[in-house]
Amino acid sequence: MALVSDKALVLRRYPWGESSLIVHVLTPGHGRVHLTARGVFRPTARYFAALDLFDTLEIEYSMGPQQELGNLRRATIGRRRARVCAKLPVYRTGLAALELADIAARPGQDEGRLFRLTEAALERLETNQVSCTESRVSFELQYLRALGLAPALLHCAACGGQAPALPEDPPRVIFSAGAGGRLCAPCGAGARAASHRVGTLPEDVLLAAAQVDAGRERSADNKPNRGGDAGSSQPLTEELLDRVRDFLERFIDFHLETRPRSHESFLAAPNRNTRAARQPRPHGAGL
Ligand SMILES: [Zn+2]
Repeated sequence: MALVSDKALVLRRYPWGESSLIVHVLTPGHGRVHLTARGVFRPTARYFAALDLFDTLEIEYSMGPQQELGNLRRATIGRRRARVCAKLPVYRTGLAALELADIAARPGQDEGRLFRLTEAALERLETNQVSCTESRVSFELQYLRALGLAPALLHCAACGGQAPALPEDPPRVIFSAGAGGRLCAPCGAGARAASHRVGTLPEDVLLAAAQVDAGRERSADNKPNRGGDAGSSQPLTEELLDRVRDFLERFIDFHLETRPRSHESFLAAPNRNTRAARQPRPHGAGL
């Protein structure tokens, strides 16, 4: 029986018997770990009231070499994030990050990167740095990068060259989730020939996604979150961020080959980025 110490984020909790829980946690050093927490509601338990979602925990558990379920021995709260539970949209955004982390986390593997980016997403929600939607899309972009699935946003995914927008108003670009993102016209034809589904997306959505990603890097350097950059800076309205979310969550679903529960109601609406949805209204149409 090895005794293991690690940090942890609780991904899920299930009641077990009268007074115990089974918890699934994400740890940086050991990936996803499943643990029993016996007598968790007794004040004498060494993890009493320490197994809430969104907090960063310090845990100690024992697990045999062939076991899938370890025994939680001790848990303390390293960083409490009570505000994530205080408002429903913030809570839902936090749950969505935990759900994606749960899908990607491998048992027994180093998941330091996934742990850090999930923890950072929860911290952004706790400290209310950006809107829920911006926090969500920022996490989704980092998540895709950690999985090696980041979409090409500015250049062609296949040849790395320029991928100019099509001459339309508003401008649209050739895009294929299966071929890795934005494509130039020749690579778009190549992707189609290779049986990838190839469509188009409004260019502003990809530029806004790139901007959110760049903003995250700037804030990591302690520089202002927006503005000051030459080039493509545009106001990140909630409408635009919703369309970035729409694009990213469909992209994630495609690659995970599943639709996470936290994407269901948002993606039940028609695709917000189709040509029909983005058609500029004729002047004076009054509709
Ligand atoms: Zn190309």
